[in-house]
Parts: sequence; structure tokens; C-alpha cells
Amino acid sequence: SLRIRGLSKTFGETEVLTSIDLDVKKGEFLTLLGPSGSGKTTLLRIIAGFETASGGELLLDGTDISVLKPSERKLGMVFQNYALFPHLTVAENIAYGLKVRKYDRGALRRRVDHMLEVVGLGHLAARKPTQLSGGQQQRVALARALAYEPEILLMDEPLGALDRSLRLQMEQEIKQVHRETGTTVIYVTHDQEEALVLSDRVAIMNQGVFAGLDTPMNLFTRPENSFVARFFSDSN
Ligand code: ATP
Repeated sequence: SLRIRGLSKTFGETEVLTSIDLDVKKGEFLTLLGPSGSGKTTLLRIIAGFETASGGELLLDGTDISVLKPSERKLGMVFQNYALFPHLTVAENIAYGLKVRKYDRGALRRRVDHMLEVVGLGHLAARKPTQLSGGQQQRVALARALAYEPEILLMDEPLGALDRSLRLQMEQEIKQVHRETGTTVIYVTHDQEEALVLSDRVAIMNQGVFAGLDTPMNLFTRPENSFVARFFSDSN
């Protein structure tokens, strides 16, 4: 499990995260939900190792990972701009992280085939990313991130670039992949409907702190303060 204690981040004079405490259980789907500028992406980037915290602790299964490089943290990542390798095929994109981690050929092939099946893209294995739709590209990004069985999957607005009907479809697919793989997920969005559908728990962020952290149902029916009520309710 992931354990965060007293995590802070300042850029120059500006404090964007203030003493964040968070525990994410193994297999949990946790969403960071909040308005633009509330600190969601910064928190995710610190967990990923692209950004250094100004203070606090970051432990994965009891180990301090704040000192590790991003590639040493056993995390998978999916972003809005999927950043697939354009010159590699779908299968090669999925295989990339496995090669880096020195999977042998047989294990690599089995793993790539399995991931293609999980995201339903077996028939497109030989295509290049430019020959895929946005939703298909995002499935490849998901398969690539999960291929080497990361401890935690970090997703930052992965569906932000997709139109509404595709977004709804991809929500269901993400849910299903989460169920099938049991991977711990930390998911960033500013879309409350997405958070409701996907999450075991939602952390509502406001100006660098959690205004609420609970199951979607509890946040929705018993908001603990007016910010949560305003941000996460029917009226929105
Ligand atoms: P959005 O939903 O718009 O992506 P967010 O909740 O993810 O917003 P962050 O991207 O984490 O918010 O930004 C939090 C605050 O930190 C913002 O005020 C932003 O301007 C500031 N910030 C982020 N990165 C930097 C940086 N590299 N240097 C200075 N300020 C930064």
C-alpha cells in the first residue's frame, strides 16, 4: 500500500500542496478530483517521481520511494496525451517497458498477447499509433502501462481528449481492466461523473489540501463541508 504523510510542495513562494496525508490500499481505485489548479497533477507527479516534494514522506509497502528515480518506482502511467512511440507498432509499444526490464522473449510475447487481449486490440497489433482512433490509442497506453504489472497505475485525465460517448465507453473498460488485474489505481480528473463511476474512494482537492476523502456515496450523501457539497453534488 501507498502511504503519504505530511507531503508539501512549494514552487518559489507558492505552496501548492500543504501537508497531504493519504493511504491507498492495495487494489484500491482512488480518484483525485478537484478544480483546475488545486494540485492534483502535482501530487501525481510527486508520486511518479517527476517532481520532488518540499517535505513529507512517500512510502510504498514500507519503503521510502522518494529517493528512487521514476523508472525504479514500479509505477505505470497513462496521460491525456498518450505519448505512444509513433515509429513502433501497437505490439512493440506494449513490449517496450518489458524489454527495458529484460523480460525474455517467450515471457515478453505471452505478456504482450495477454495485454492485447485485455484491451481488445489483438487484431490491431501490427498497426502504428497514427492508424488508430483516439480511444484505441488510449487502450494501447493502458496496456503498455499495465504490461509489466506495476504496483500502482497513475492516470492523469486519461479520457480528457475523448468525446463523450467514447469517454463513457472507456470508463467501463478502465473499470473492467481494474477488476481483472486488481491493480491499485490513482486517477486524476476534474469530472465528477467519472469519479463517481470509477472510484472506491475520492479525494476532493481544494487549494492543495483534501476538502474531503471518502467513498463517492458518502461524499455525495453526507458532504462534510460546503466545498464538497458544492463540488460534488446533484446541482453540478
Ligand atoms: P488542472 O486540473 O488544471 O490540471 P491541477 O489540479 O492538476 O490542475 P496542478 O497542475 O497540480 O493543478 O497545479 C497546482 C498549482 O501549482 C497551480 O497553481 C499551478 O500553477 C502551480 N504549478 C504547477 N506546476 C508548476 C511549476 N512547475 N512551477 C510553478 N508553479 C507550478
